[in-house]
This record gives sequence, C-alpha cells and structure tokens, in this order.
Amino acid sequence: MEIEALSYLGIDLGGTKLLIGEMDAAGTVVSHKKYRSGFLDQTGALRVIEESLEDYLRTGRVQYERPPRAMGLGLIGRVNNELGIWYQIDSRRTTELRIAEVLSRKFSLPCYVENDVRSALKAELLFGVGRRSKDFIYINVGTGIAAGIVSGGRVLQGGHCNAGEVGHTRVGVDPGVDIPCECGRINCVEAVASGSGLDKCARALTDRYPGSILSVPKEGEQVNVKEIFEKSDRDPLCALLVDTAARAIANLVMNLVRTSDPDMVVLGGGVVSDGFLYPGIQAALDPHTMRFVTRGVEITRLDPAYAGLMGACTVAMNRNFSN
Ligand SMILES: [Zn+2]
Repeated sequence: MEIEALSYLGIDLGGTKLLIGEMDAAGTVVSHKKYRSGFLDQTGALRVIEESLEDYLRTGRVQYERPPRAMGLGLIGRVNNELGIWYQIDSRRTTELRIAEVLSRKFSLPCYVENDVRSALKAELLFGVGRRSKDFIYINVGTGIAAGIVSGGRVLQGGHCNAGEVGHTRVGVDPGVDIPCECGRINCVEAVASGSGLDKCARALTDRYPGSILSVPKEGEQVNVKEIFEKSDRDPLCALLVDTAARAIANLVMNLVRTSDPDMVVLGGGVVSDGFLYPGIQAALDPHTMRFVTRGVEITRLDPAYAGLMGACTVAMNRNFSN
C-alpha cells in the first residue's frame, strides 16, 4: 500500500525574519525559505505573511506535488489557538485580528495559529522530550523569556491565552543597578537574562566599567550576546553579565519547578541553545529543590534554526493538547 505523502506548512514569525516551510508527519522539515519581516504591527505582519506565502507556494516547495494539509502560524504575543485570533504583539501593538480565518480563505487551506513559545513547546511534545516526559517545562531564552508548561501531557494555556509569561517575574538577582522592564516592573528575569535584557544591563553598567572591551553599539542596535560570552573570561563587565544571567535563569528554573512539579526542564532559544550559559545555570541549581526533576535540565535537541518552524508546522497538525 502506498502511503500518501503529507506535509504541513508552517510560518514562523520572529522579530526580524519570517521562515516558511513544510514538515512531514514524522517531524522532518522538507523545505523552507526565509523572508525578511522587520518591526511590524499585526496588520503589517499579515501583509508580509501573505506576500511571502504567495512567493513560497510559487517558488519554495520542493518535495510535494500535493498542496499542504494545513498551515500553522507561530506568532509573537497573545494568541487564541482555539478561535484563531491574534490579540496582540505587546502592549503597544494590540489589533485583534482573526488571522486564521483571513489566511484560510485567501489560500484555501485550513489555518491554525499559536503563540511562538507554545508552538515550540508543541514541537517538543511530539518530536522532542515529550516522547520521554509528560510533565516538563520548556523555557525559551531569546530576545525575551517565556515558558511553556506541560502537566500530565496537557499544555497550559491560561484563561486569557497568556500563561507562561514568566519573563516578567523577579528572581532575586540583579546586576547592581535597576533595570526597567518593558512590563513596567524593575529587574524582571527578562530584563537581566534575555538577549534584550543583556543589552539593557550592558548599557546601564558600561560607565562603571570604563576599561571594558565589550562593544556597546548605538541605541537601536543590540549588544552582541555571543561577544559577551566570548569576552567573559577576560572582561569583568562581560563576566558579571554572564554570571547574573546564569543565576537568574537558574532561579527561574527552580521557581517553575516548585510551581508545576515537572520531571524535566528543557531550555531553548538563542541565548541558551549554544550551551555557553549551561554550566553556570547547572552550578546555581539547588539539589534539594531539583530532586524530583529526575530527567534533568537539558538544552533542546531540536535544531535551533528550525525549532520555531517545526512548532508552526506542529500547530498545523491541530492536535489536541488540552485533554
Ligand atoms: Zn517585566
């Protein structure tokens, strides 16, 4: 019997780029194409998605003759998976958009949407650590910080599709100066340990370290996190930033472990996926607090370059993760 070749289309919208591609039912990405996105509101993002998708369907498909089964979108901000609504990117960009309906009609494909971190969490559930654990936490440390929580195999969504915004909690670690966070609070874990937080901390502290060899670019460009890591063995400012971030992430891990009692914690996202911060995080974890996390704290094994796309394609599969 011939098995019908199926593919699921995914659209992974990041802060600066848009990745469109297809995955087969076993979780292999079979084609992909990258597009530029830039800083957009939701209406602008929809326009870029439509234009890029038209191009992808014309030029980007390589593997399949048949149209994709469905499409899934991983979007930044607050997203209602059930109703297909994108409520907001952040507090300044809040246009309620029925994006699944609009795209479904335009491209004649079923369309499903989800928040980007919960999308990646769903890819972990089907193709990553979810094969070993039904109680785990996925923490994404990238430009921002957020978590996806799986409890008894179910994905925690929240009453307003806003569960897991743990980047805006405080973890008792600060770099010695108050760092205002986007959310209005001070020294949230996102403000000291994410890509944008490391940038803020470096800028706030640079005057105190006049001899620092870290390059701090003009406002509007971001301090290079890899450069902070690379210079941390010989530059006191970089060493402080690395130490603060590692301890902050470890405290976040322990707070979340105390909240949902997982047997595993998975770290993903651009700031942690290269493993540089990992030894510092491990060293700051308290064994007693972590005693039931028997499968440990691990860096995601999903390829960081495609984890977001795999998440979006998993959303296209429209599996029920809520019961
Ligand atoms: Zn905050």
